[in-house]
Amino acid sequence: MADRLQVLSGDITRLAVDAIVNAANASLLGGGGVDGAIHRGAGPELLAYCRTLGGCPTGEAKITPGFRLPSKHVIHTVGPVWRDGSQGEAQQLGLCYRNCFRLARKHGLRSIAFPAISCGVYGYPRDAAARIAVAECRMAMRDNPDLEQVLLVAFDESMAKVLQQALSAA
Ligand code: ADP
Repeated sequence: MADRLQVLSGDITRLAVDAIVNAANASLLGGGGVDGAIHRGAGPELLAYCRTLGGCPTGEAKITPGFRLPSKHVIHTVGPVWRDGSQGEAQQLGLCYRNCFRLARKHGLRSIAFPAISCGVYGYPRDAAARIAVAECRMAMRDNPDLEQVLLVAFDESMAKVLQQALSAA
């Protein structure tokens, strides 16, 4: 059980999993950070496909093919922008994970990798975000035995440490 959920350091776009998650913005038309890296890796077909989706509200998720990425799919979700914590940020971040897992289940996916949603330019405090990520992953894995591998991917060592701490707590 423990090994089904792991923290990994590195570039999420290199992973050959059933789906990588994109911390997108509401337009789904690309951006910086992990979003930019995913669009670069997937090629222009991804942007063309995303144009047909009509965007994505905060907390929701949409699935696309992975095109030129090693991952089969990309699940795009839009994390909350951190304001002061009283604007429903935690609920919205939890919903991001939940809606990604809902799509994973619907499409019969067995492996999924998440970046640290909202922990970049959206400014969510990393400790709090990591605790939500771990709690949501554990809940989803309990409910869906078909999930063989869930990866929490950190792009830098400090984020990896924060995620690892959240994983070993509780
Ligand atoms: P958000 O707008 O949701 O905050 P960002 O893309 O700015 O999204 O950042 C989310 C997290 O993704 C940050 O921790 C950032 O360091 C990380 N990140 C950026 N590029 C990659 C990548 N190629 N692979 C994995 N994580 C990445």
